Parts: sequence; structure tokens; C-alpha cells
Amino acid sequence: MKTIKFEVRTSKHTQMLDITREVQRAVTESGVRDGICTVFIPHTTAAVTINENADPDVVRDFTMELGKIVPWEDGYHHMEGNSAAHLKSSMIGFSEQIIIEDGRLLLGTWQGIYFCEFDGPRSRKCFVKIMEGQDGVRLL
Ligand code: ZN
Repeated sequence: MKTIKFEVRTSKHTQMLDITREVQRAVTESGVRDGICTVFIPHTTAAVTINENADPDVVRDFTMELGKIVPWEDGYHHMEGNSAAHLKSSMIGFSEQIIIEDGRLLLGTWQGIYFCEFDGPRSRKCFVKIMEGQDGVRLL
């Protein structure tokens, strides 16, 4: 199955954008009912994570605390001046896997998929790969 790509346009330097709807759309359009969905971020200063999408303060606290753990300026050597963004991206990670059941992402009630921007605003890409489960294959 081909890789689905979509664009994310961030508007702030540090931002978490809920991309659950876009990923679900990719699953729906694939027609896959049962399988695995991988979301991959092809950038070195952005990431993807799954967390609560009910209270926006969770996302605010998330970025606030990450900024304390990895301050923007801390005597880094990287000439581009965005070492903090590189570090945060690797800490959070560049991919997530979600189970697909009955054509839906099998997320918890309060879970959403977040694109994490650490050096915006920018135009970014998200890759989604969907693998269909195979009937008759059993793991022992
Ligand atoms: Zn850099």
C-alpha cells in the first residue's frame, strides 16, 4: 500500500497540533479495516506523540515543561542555533504506531495524535503508512 502524505502548517515556534482527523482520513481512504497505521515525521526539529486531546492545558503544560528540560539557549555548539529543537524531537520521537480496528484508529477516549513543532513556524510533512492485517496468519 502506498505511503500517504499530508502537509501541516505550523503558526508558532513551539506548537502541538492535533492531526488525529488527518490520520483517520488516510485510514478511511485506504479502505483497510484491520491493520497497523504508522505515522512518521520526516524532519529533525519536529516530532509526533499521542496524548490527551480533551483539555488544551495538557498540551500547554507539555511544551512548557519540555522548554524547562531543554532550554532554547544553553551554550550549544550547533551553528544553526536550534539544538534545543533537535534534542526535543529525538526525545519525543519521529513515529507512532496505532492499531486499526473496524476501519478506525484504536485510540483511547482521551487520546489524540499530535504533530509537535519545535522550530516553527514552518510548512511540514507527515507520512502515513497503513499495513493491512492478513487473515490466516497466526503467531504462535
Ligand atoms: Zn539545526
